[in-house]
Amino acid sequence: MAHPRFAYAPAPESRAVVRLRPSYGLFIGGEFVDPLDGGGFKTLSPATEEVLAEVAAAGPRDVDRAVRAAEEAAGPWAALAGSERAKYVFRIARLIQERARELAVLEVLDNGKPIRETRDVDIPLAAAHFFYYAGWADKLEYAGLGPAPRPIGVVGQVIPWNFPLLMAAWKLAPALAAGNTCVLKPAETTPLSALLLAEILQQAELPPGVVNIVTGAGDTGAALVAHPGVRKVAFTGSTAVGKEIQRRLAGTGKRLTLELGGKAANIVFEDAPLSQAVEGIVNGIFFNQGEVCCAGSRLLVQEPIADALVDALKRRLGTLRLGDPLDKNTDIGAINSPAQLEKIRDLAASGEQEGAQRWEAPCALPAQGWWFPPTVFTGVSPVQRIAREEIFGPVLSVLTFRTPEEAVQKANNTTYGLSAGVWTEKGSRILWMANRLRAGVVWANTFNRFDPTSPFGGYRESGFGREGGRHGLEAYLEP
Ligand code: NAP
Ligand code: MG
Repeated sequence: MAHPRFAYAPAPESRAVVRLRPSYGLFIGGEFVDPLDGGGFKTLSPATEEVLAEVAAAGPRDVDRAVRAAEEAAGPWAALAGSERAKYVFRIARLIQERARELAVLEVLDNGKPIRETRDVDIPLAAAHFFYYAGWADKLEYAGLGPAPRPIGVVGQVIPWNFPLLMAAWKLAPALAAGNTCVLKPAETTPLSALLLAEILQQAELPPGVVNIVTGAGDTGAALVAHPGVRKVAFTGSTAVGKEIQRRLAGTGKRLTLELGGKAANIVFEDAPLSQAVEGIVNGIFFNQGEVCCAGSRLLVQEPIADALVDALKRRLGTLRLGDPLDKNTDIGAINSPAQLEKIRDLAASGEQEGAQRWEAPCALPAQGWWFPPTVFTGVSPVQRIAREEIFGPVLSVLTFRTPEEAVQKANNTTYGLSAGVWTEKGSRILWMANRLRAGVVWANTFNRFDPTSPFGGYRESGFGREGGRHGLEAYLEP
């Protein structure tokens, strides 16, 4: 069955809704301030390589100032009635909704992901997290975490570049609802939506110092997690940096949660509805250019349907549109940074060297910017790097299995354990599989679904602690 090819007229979203400033300071004590330690860096648009703005780099003295602002704000914020804190958190959610278009365009510019995704996923989900945790602020004693749980104090939060605003929301919303004050460090390549969020916090009249935002590179993050005033660290990023942070915090008494990498199996049984599974595989690994910690990067398909499924998948990938991420028809945007593109290229090259068959979707790559075409490797064996290492790009490795036992064994044959997907008509098989898969989230006949009410987090090298739901409060409360 051939898919019809439609020609799409360009449908670019206007960027006029965003007012970029030439330069941004640090957000400390409710104001934008110049860094004491000097430096700054540029943030670029991955799709065009254009310089978007100059952003302040926080040095150790700036981090210290931010932590002290959070310490000063901590007592009064914790003493507020939960119902009063809820109003602020609710107001932040409403303002994110009001300014959704501006945030969606800004996120496209700074990250390179398509507007369809920022508009329909990143920004609505960020608002949903604030709404959800606003509801908990006056009900903490019913969260099952003790009769009178207390906030921890100042929390240091470090986030990555793949879902910049959404990761900020995952960190800030539960921390604020629980009565903590925060110092947040966005990723170096995507600081702008967090800085627009700082304006929203001003608009919401959040008391000064309750949230502070320090931009900078890895050493800013390292200074933050090491600061003695920080009582709890929440980190989302690579497993390597997560391990380093865990080593540094050992013996300090600080609390820690880690959301790290993944190498998820998306498992398709022979009785699965094939065209639905194809859509789920596409969503699993090509959503957000595959720059997703819980991406379904290993397709495990039952042998009798392997050829038919891979053929259908390739046909579908031929219809994806790669290019201008501000165009509302675009499916695949730009890769976030040259360093990430290099990593994807290296790992894809290793796949060929180690004997897997490489296939690329037929699409022209723009001359400017950082791009990688949707890629599928077949003939993959579990020992190859593309079957073991997180690529964090639009690259799918296909493996096969014969029995459910073999599927479980192959799916769990990884150092990670963040997510998994199961495609089958049989409800009993879904439950049988879910009980055996060592992954924090198991999706059945769907993939990459997120909801603020549902806990998310890993096993093994994917980290520990849960974000979202009632479980997400636990990291921010003392029993
Ligand atoms: P990364 O290098 O670990 O960076 C994550 C954040 O940590 C960034 O803000 C980074 O600053 C900062 N950082 C770097 N070195 C640090 C240090 N020594 N101490 C404290 N902070 C430090 O990760 P990435 O490559 O940007 O992000 C991709 C990774 O994140 C992938 O492995 C992915 O699986 C993981 N991820 C996991 C989840 C999850 O929920 N489990 C979600 C999204 C991403 P710079 O930006 O300046 O480097
Ligand atoms: Mg950028």
